[in-house]
Amino acid sequence: MTATGNLDEDRETFVTHLECSLTGERYEADRLHGLSQAGRPLLVRYDLAALGKALSRDTLAARPTDLWRWRELLPVRKTHSIVSLGEIETPLIPIPRSGGPKVLVKDEGRLPTGSFKARGLVMAVAMAKELGVKRIAMPTNGNAGAALAAYATRAGIETVVLCPDDTPEINVREIAAQGARVYRVNGLIDECGAIVAKGAAEGLWFDFSTLKEPYRIEGKKTMGLELAAQLGWRLPKAIFYPTGGGTGLIGMWKAFDELEQLGWIGSERPKMFAVQASGCAPIVRAFEAGEEHAERWENAHTVAAGIRVPKAVGDFLILRAVRESGGRAIAVEEEALLRATAESALQDGMLLCPEGGATLAAWREAVAQGWVEADDEVVLFNCANGLKYPLPDRSTTLDKNNLPDLASL
Ligand SMILES: *Cc1c(COP(=O)(O)O)cnc(C)c1O
Repeated sequence: MTATGNLDEDRETFVTHLECSLTGERYEADRLHGLSQAGRPLLVRYDLAALGKALSRDTLAARPTDLWRWRELLPVRKTHSIVSLGEIETPLIPIPRSGGPKVLVKDEGRLPTGSFKARGLVMAVAMAKELGVKRIAMPTNGNAGAALAAYATRAGIETVVLCPDDTPEINVREIAAQGARVYRVNGLIDECGAIVAKGAAEGLWFDFSTLKEPYRIEGKKTMGLELAAQLGWRLPKAIFYPTGGGTGLIGMWKAFDELEQLGWIGSERPKMFAVQASGCAPIVRAFEAGEEHAERWENAHTVAAGIRVPKAVGDFLILRAVRESGGRAIAVEEEALLRATAESALQDGMLLCPEGGATLAAWREAVAQGWVEADDEVVLFNCANGLKYPLPDRSTTLDKNNLPDLASL
């Protein structure tokens, strides 16, 4: 048995091919791929009919609950390609006071490297290892770089990570601490991405930007698989997802589709709410204008670094999922997301990251607008551990030589 319990045998994958998310053009499995010819993300396709015969919900239920429980629905072929740090199933935590009676937080901050980027990167690094990649570069707002550094270092793959120079300090340091060469760039994440693309074109490294390689979506997809299993093979009324590149939202939407094809869930879907900060809301602007693609957002700013993404290559996939689900894209003010973050901690003891706080603020807005009912069962994604961000200092000093009346403390 390995540390995670689910990795003790080699597997046949059920992957049949990859497919351009825009044109449907087919690409061969077991090859190194970036974007499609059309410059769009590739999606991994499986033989779900055969998979459904080989695997049942009962078999799944008997396995340890970690991410590798879902191995038949994942692309990795060789067990030894997997470099696990213990990708556990994350719990659903109610926040009845700051939220509502059926508001559940899926707390992704408990994953390795303290964010859900671990789900995507454990998969993408395993595939890179399987396909012989020796050197990877990535633009990041912090958490993705940290997860890449941890897994790639463990896999013996070199990494170069570029982040905006105002990325949270703890992220910059943890990336380097885990063996990556990290550079602070005087630009935003898409500008870091342009430098990574330039180096990739020169053959210096493999480009690991969000959605520019096909396997991070497959890792993030496990959030949707896990959610369905945790709720007894049904889905919540709504999902609030802090949306940067949108990998998780796209991945969950794909997971629901695969689960329905397997006959494990029905055709009902949660309303998908893509949550952004009002200082960087390209998806919200496109949603409201009825556009299929989103223009770059200029002068992007928000403390919620993980969703400070001015331009997303999977914009049309995010917008499509949101619209098909009957959900919306919602922008929340900085003040509202900070207040929600503070109240969740003060009232429910649940320390969210600012991006997680944004989902709580968006839920409040959705209730106020009548987009969801206050007592609907909803899931908010807290995508990183709140301890990775600067916290306000609410302490007071005490002089041991001149104590006040202790009853006043
Ligand atoms: C990356 C990140 C997001 C955005 O995730 P996407 O799937 O890229 O949209 C949200 N919150 C945190 C904390 C992140 O690190």
